Amino acid sequence: MDRDLLLSPDKDPMGTAMSDYLKDGKAAKLRVFSPQFDEDEIPVAQLFRTEGQLPALERTALQAAKGHILDVGAGSGCHSLVLQDMGKEVTAIDISLLSVDVMRMRGVKDARLANFFSPGFQGQFDTILLLMNGAGIIGRLENMPDFFAKARQLLRKGGCILLDSSDLKYLYEEEDGSMAIDLAGDYYGEIEFRMKYKSIEGAPFTWLYVDFPTLQLYAESCGFTAEILAEGKHYDYLAQLKPIE
Ligand code: SAH
Repeated sequence: MDRDLLLSPDKDPMGTAMSDYLKDGKAAKLRVFSPQFDEDEIPVAQLFRTEGQLPALERTALQAAKGHILDVGAGSGCHSLVLQDMGKEVTAIDISLLSVDVMRMRGVKDARLANFFSPGFQGQFDTILLLMNGAGIIGRLENMPDFFAKARQLLRKGGCILLDSSDLKYLYEEEDGSMAIDLAGDYYGEIEFRMKYKSIEGAPFTWLYVDFPTLQLYAESCGFTAEILAEGKHYDYLAQLKPIE
């Protein structure tokens, strides 16, 4: 994992799509490729969801977020803006320069270009928020110890992580109810993606979808407790993780 990775505009399909959408109120197709799945598309409008359009799971997370909140991988700032409207204090970070520009233009007061994992990124927060399959930035299970170590550094006493994720097991279910999962292979929630927008192609990256029992196992081995705060309709859940002090 490159802890200092930042995305410049020429290699940033999603950031370019968000910039276009902010300027023109519409965008071209944001295409997603994965060796594990058929070609897909991210509706760019969905990255600009307003408070009323947020799924219940995300609204529960925003209600639970307290103190100085760190919105990690904040995208267009959709959650940071709602938190600001609620009168909460929020710092938004993203590795995409274009995303940070978009957030500033939309009124996010403290939007910073930073990689969560970078040793240079520091601060003290009461809530670390990662939403929209937010566990994805962990990339692979082997990065869990790094993730929890960094979170521990960034959290004030009494603070917590709030993140959502999904169990992708259902994608591998056969008609007879058995699972087409290679147990000797990589974890089934480590998904490789590449994005493309107009002629801009991003580098491949791995996004982690983690089932709750696996997340809890890693959390506990890294000195955190884990509990489910809410469950969504599509094998998704919101977890709260707290350092054992
Ligand atoms: N949370 C937003 C955006 C989700 S897309 C929403 O719910 O709409 C994921 C975002 O995470 C992208 O904007 C991507 O640039 C950012 N990201 C990926 N890895 C990151 C990292 N290590 N540190 C900070 N941001 C990261």
